[in-house]
Amino acid sequence: MKSLPYFSRGEVVRGFGRGSKELGIPTANFPDSVVEHLPGDISTGIYYGWACVGSGDVHKMVMSIGWNPYYKNTKKSMETHVIHTFKEDFYGQILSVVMVGYIRPERSYDSLDALIAAINHDIEEAKRNLDLPEHLKLKEDNFFRATASTSTTTSNKIMNGH
Ligand code: ADP
Ligand code: MG
Repeated sequence: MKSLPYFSRGEVVRGFGRGSKELGIPTANFPDSVVEHLPGDISTGIYYGWACVGSGDVHKMVMSIGWNPYYKNTKKSMETHVIHTFKEDFYGQILSVVMVGYIRPERSYDSLDALIAAINHDIEEAKRNLDLPEHLKLKEDNFFRATASTSTTTSNKIMNGH
């Protein structure tokens, strides 16, 4: 995918209440305005990369890009699981992400346990891949520092591409 690495930033909005948090894998959702900017060659599936909330630390992440059943599968959704334990939810805050690599296409699972196992497998693969030097350097990208030096959040609300 020629669009990778892909940088994206937006406000965290409420998802569709599928109970990801109850599974131990909360996913922070981007608004449609961010999803609509995704380049055409970014297909649905599971990605890994780096993420930061507000001007906080940069953490590893896995992201699911999928067809959104809420809109009868005509729109996509982008859901980021940050591989970090946060003290509190961060709805309304600005999430900055860089998608670095692709793990696998979307698929459906026979059981909840199989789904959870697959996600945990994705998380392990993301952690391993992101430790490669060429991926570690994106953690230090200026993109993540730009939020810290900007006092107004509005200018950061929608920022796709690099
Ligand atoms: P929703 O359907 O609203 O997306 P989830 O159960 O998927 O609900 O929970 C997502 C919310 O959990 C995020 O919007 C964020 O505020 C919070 N959250 C807490 N920890 C994390 C994390 N490690 N990764 C992503 N979101 C997290
Ligand atoms: Mg979610």
